[in-house]
Amino acid sequence: MSTFRFQALKEASSRKPVAVEELDKKSLIFGSNVFNDKAMRQFLTSEAYQAVKNAVQHGTKIDRRLADYIALGMKEWALSKGVTHYTHWFQPLTGTTAEKHDAFFETSFDGSDPVEKFGGSQLVQQEPDASSFPNGGIRNTFEARGYTAWDPTSPAFIFGTTLCIPTVFISYTGEALDYKTPLLRALHAIDQAATDVARYFDKNVKKVTPTLGWEQEYFLVDSALAASRPDILATGRTLLGHTSAKGQQLEDHYFGSIPTRVLNYMRDLENECMLLGIPVKTRHNEVAPNQFELAPIFEETNLAVDHNSLLMDVMQKVAERHYFKVLFHEKPFKGVNGSGKHNNWSLATDTGVNLLSPSKTPMSNLQFLTFFINTIKAVYNNEELVRASIASASNDHRLGANEAPPAIISVFIGQQLTKVLEELEGVSKGKLSPEEKTDLKLNVVGKLPDVFLDNTDRNRTSPFAFTGNKFEFRAVGSSANCANSMTILNTIVAKQLKDFKIEVDNLIETKDMKKDDAIFNVLREYIKQFKTILFEGDGYSEAWEQEAAKRGLSNHKTTPKALKAKVSKQALALFEEMGVMNHVEMEARYEIELEEYVKKIQIEGRVLGDIARNHVIPTAIRYQNTLIENVKGLKEIFGKEFETIGREQIGLIKEISEHIAAINAKVEEMTEERKNANELLEIEKQAEAYCEKVKPYFDVIRYHSDKLELLVDNEIWTLTKYRELLFTK
Ligand code: ADP
Ligand code: MG
Repeated sequence: MSTFRFQALKEASSRKPVAVEELDKKSLIFGSNVFNDKAMRQFLTSEAYQAVKNAVQHGTKIDRRLADYIALGMKEWALSKGVTHYTHWFQPLTGTTAEKHDAFFETSFDGSDPVEKFGGSQLVQQEPDASSFPNGGIRNTFEARGYTAWDPTSPAFIFGTTLCIPTVFISYTGEALDYKTPLLRALHAIDQAATDVARYFDKNVKKVTPTLGWEQEYFLVDSALAASRPDILATGRTLLGHTSAKGQQLEDHYFGSIPTRVLNYMRDLENECMLLGIPVKTRHNEVAPNQFELAPIFEETNLAVDHNSLLMDVMQKVAERHYFKVLFHEKPFKGVNGSGKHNNWSLATDTGVNLLSPSKTPMSNLQFLTFFINTIKAVYNNEELVRASIASASNDHRLGANEAPPAIISVFIGQQLTKVLEELEGVSKGKLSPEEKTDLKLNVVGKLPDVFLDNTDRNRTSPFAFTGNKFEFRAVGSSANCANSMTILNTIVAKQLKDFKIEVDNLIETKDMKKDDAIFNVLREYIKQFKTILFEGDGYSEAWEQEAAKRGLSNHKTTPKALKAKVSKQALALFEEMGVMNHVEMEARYEIELEEYVKKIQIEGRVLGDIARNHVIPTAIRYQNTLIENVKGLKEIFGKEFETIGREQIGLIKEISEHIAAINAKVEEMTEERKNANELLEIEKQAEAYCEKVKPYFDVIRYHSDKLELLVDNEIWTLTKYRELLFTK
């Protein structure tokens, strides 16, 4: 008896929904575990409060004396809520969040005078053991240690009994070792560039803030069932498993009613989010069975990124209370839709205007067109970098898997805006006549409000789509830290806006053009240039791959190929120019991402080899032995006739042997290829070898194993099956 699988199934099917307390008014508890404006007003002196505000709004430094006061207030607030420990919370390049808890509790050195202490120095800076986080050789180069430093733009929060202080993680020589540092620099760069351009239209604009609204997709699997699958535990996905007879064909899961157990999980999770100030808004089923989505109200990008990272932690913790495991992997199940994390992105001014929202007046619509067109130009100029920003071993399974955006980056804008761009392309070179301007105002720019109506015209197959008042970057993977894609997107748009400003100013100064004329002239040239990146058709189709190749668009299907764009001359220069990352940081990140890729494939290869040999083959042999016994018995009873009577069984015995032999041989060969790959010294070569030499074995081994799953007696099959993983609610 394969006890583990059946025990797990028994456990899973006998679960009752875990009761969750319903909080009456969400708005009353929202952010009550966050050191937000309200808490700061209550616990800080007005001088200290103002210092934090200035740091958030204008990036001013907080001096040490004030840091002491802020720490004091923060501690008092935390103690009033039963907090005992504090931690610098940061996002190292491991892809998870990190924290090291210290107690507030201290004594003097002779053990007397026990007090709760927390001063400015503990708030501002800490020194985790940086050597255990990936650094891509930076520390070896500089022999520097890393430290964490308080990021006042993201408020401290309480989780459990710990005060968590969002921080950046940098080396002593100033290189970024985390996701947040480059993101903050990118946000600064786009603020400067976008503010300069926005001031063409409104002199009152002093700050532009990128906004981000992510949509998090995920799978839930019963924790007992997840524990019965070594592949899920070690890699977050199933490496084997025959597709279930019923999958998502009936399309009965999407927006269907949410099962009670799951609903209670979601409610519990939402309550936690409310306390943490994560403004979750929507929840629903997704396309695949046991797949769900959660989305918040959009926020300023730095905070939104922190909230997504925090959410992913909290989701897993709350899931434990409900006996679920959350799978963030982009493709946990073969033949079933994968998960993404759409990044909805826009730019907001401090005067309250969404720069990517068309509006009623011609002037503000010229502003809209300026930001809209510049964003497309930025993606066009840097399509390979955009592709690289979403590259990972797990996302490789999803991109181009006929249900997610392809590995080709294109931009969808809808019919209305396509028409508008066509008209703009026709504007005269040089100064525009008054008649032409009137015509533009009335017939082109004036028609923009219709875009709002057009916003239902959505193309779900596009990796980067305009959806009425924001761009939706859909190719981002569900397990990714959004900082990666957001750093790159904001940096390339910043660079583009900076160049745009130079071009327009140049026309105004040297060609004596009016501002509007200069803007129309530059935009017209952009539209002419970037046509190849615009695509309104079916992104999943074969035809698009061919068409994209003709257009010269890249189509990097694997991470090692896609990542190269991060260290191209163009990318290094761009990031250096925008002050986001220097070439040492860029190259370090490239290395880390390749290392991560190698490790992921290496682990998958090992786990697959183990399961194939320890689960699949022994089970197949046991079943084969039963068949052999059966055939022997038939021979005993029927003599020579057994060959006819036992034909099916004999056929099965042979078939099983063939699959076993194939699995054995392929596992052997794969192991050999792994050894070869491990011997390569350059990480680039190693990643390529894992991608091209090791990974292809996964499908072959899986093929034979999945065939065996169909042949072998269900009662002795040890690995929990797809139908059980996907349909147990
Ligand atoms: P869907 O794409 O699933 O149809 P919606 O279009 O309603 O969903 O919105 C998706 C997400 O877009 C939400 O999380 C929302 O917060 C976000 N969003 C809306 N406006 C903006 C904006 N100006 N900037 C960034 N994100 C936004
Ligand atoms: Mg969406």
